[in-house]
Amino acid sequence: MSRQKICAGNWKMYKTPDEAREYFHVLPTVLKPGTCRIVIFPPAYNLLVLKESATALSRAGIVLEYGPQNIHFQKEGAFTGEISAHAVKTLGCELALIGHSERRTLFNETDDVIAKKVKTAVDEELQPMLCVGETLAERDAGRTNEVVKKQLQVGLSLIDVAHDEYVIAYEPVWAIGTGRTATPAQAEETHAFVRQVLTEIAGAKKAQTVSVLYGGSVKPDNAAGLSAQPNIDGFLIGGASLKPADFAAIALAL
Ligand code: PEP
Repeated sequence: MSRQKICAGNWKMYKTPDEAREYFHVLPTVLKPGTCRIVIFPPAYNLLVLKESATALSRAGIVLEYGPQNIHFQKEGAFTGEISAHAVKTLGCELALIGHSERRTLFNETDDVIAKKVKTAVDEELQPMLCVGETLAERDAGRTNEVVKKQLQVGLSLIDVAHDEYVIAYEPVWAIGTGRTATPAQAEETHAFVRQVLTEIAGAKKAQTVSVLYGGSVKPDNAAGLSAQPNIDGFLIGGASLKPADFAAIALAL
């Protein structure tokens, strides 16, 4: 299997259900079907709207995949406020975002917890999209590769890394929501390194089939330069994914 191009939107804690419905009324007017895999990670309370919208969009020839921005590693239980991977799978989710830097920094998610979530996603037949990336202090200290390697090694340690399905999103923390994008050369350097680590832990054949997305202030005007890089297979987009026209323009650049 060859690598898939993926355009994924992370809505964070934005959009009411009505706003989400409106978004998917507009999206087919600006998005050309079939350019790449289209994925949205809405807030969990909007997943049912995504399910309805995906059915409607399929009539326009658009395949919309979606999933939660976080899951708990247990199937169910007394975990107030948490999200069950098992339950969201019944809402038609195909993927789960795991280890986003906001989860790591604001909600104290460690690599060990993230590894358990990746395993739970795989067990529930959700494709995990594992986020990795260094902080500005780590980059300035020359530790980017060390940090990213550990996040990959530990994050993928509980699954069959050579056979299970997963996606990696490289998101330098200093580029998320800051308007400061990695240059195409900076991003490509780390993407090539991610592929090298995948080769070490999963084998060369598997490493060539894993989609590695870039995230961090991707906008319509910088998407083409980034997507031209050989190891960048798509994008994970925060702010710009909230506007259908911007999201569609980025998808078109892939
Ligand atoms: C993100 O939330 O994953 C992200 C990359 O955000 P932004 O595009 O706004 O930098």
